[in-house]
Amino acid sequence: MNLSDTPAQVLDGKALSERILDSLKEQVEAKRNAGLPAPGLATVLVGNDPASHVYVRNKRRACGKVGITTIHHELDEHIGQAALLELVQKLNNDPEVHGILVQLPLPKGGDYDENAVLAAIDPAKDADGFHPFNQGALMQGRKAPVPCTPKGIMSLLDECGLDLMGRHAVVVGRSNIVGKPIALLLLERHMTVTICHSRTRDLAAEVGRADIVVAAVGVPELVRGDWVKPGAVVLDVGINRNEEGKLVGDVEYHAAAQRAAWITPVPGGVGPMTIAMLLQNTFEAYAN
Ligand code: NDP
Repeated sequence: MNLSDTPAQVLDGKALSERILDSLKEQVEAKRNAGLPAPGLATVLVGNDPASHVYVRNKRRACGKVGITTIHHELDEHIGQAALLELVQKLNNDPEVHGILVQLPLPKGGDYDENAVLAAIDPAKDADGFHPFNQGALMQGRKAPVPCTPKGIMSLLDECGLDLMGRHAVVVGRSNIVGKPIALLLLERHMTVTICHSRTRDLAAEVGRADIVVAAVGVPELVRGDWVKPGAVVLDVGINRNEEGKLVGDVEYHAAAQRAAWITPVPGGVGPMTIAMLLQNTFEAYAN
């Protein structure tokens, strides 16, 4: 590992995600040229949350670029749990649908149970990798759809070309969609993994021991630059607005970049990789 204290190399998630999309496009074309149908991703959006609309629009746009058909269902926020489950069942049985994405969060105040909806998706069509069966498979180190953000973080980390075995990774955040699954993926690669959260006593000291830092917190610039060990790899998942309304990550970027060997920017780091991995999961479900 490079232990120099020169400013970090930037891990460009936008460029890497574009390369992945180009490769997916070629793979889809090859299948189509062999006379096979297009891969299909069903996107389900319930209610009027503006951020969710933007996320789903971006995901569908990316699908269009690589030749994945999207089957989009936009439902009234009052549609209710039973009707939503009925739709999921219909999509499970539809041979033109290879991947299913139910955009979270579901509207507050209804009778929605997100865990029950995720569990109703056919695990083989689980484009987000959130089904409990697939999360269990991840825990056991078995092949299964992996949640998109952690999968994208691993691809970025592989860009550094480092020998990860035995290195110390510190994950800040323990959510089911980022913190816990990325910790398992790092462990799978034989790293020594520490998971930190809101009750961690000395976050600065924990981060200071890390060869690899993954910050998935949702607090602007919580991880200070001077906590970072010289030569570390810093992977910033956070997407936050700071007090000036500027988009920032969970890491104090410029100060951290003075110490790290590699760092992901926000925006343009982990974010674009999440979408690329959704498409990759959909293609893998189709190819299987
Ligand atoms: P959650 O809110 O589900 O989890 C946040 C985690 O951070 C929790 O485990 C919480 O601890 C921990 N935490 C909160 N405050 C502190 C603190 N002061 N010190 C240490 N740990 C703390 O968030 P997500 O995992 O869903 O998302 C995290 C961030 O990543 C958000 O900014 C989100 O927008 C972004 N994100 C970005 C994606 C992308 O594609 N780039 C995809 C998904 C998320 P505790 O468990 O103790 O409460």
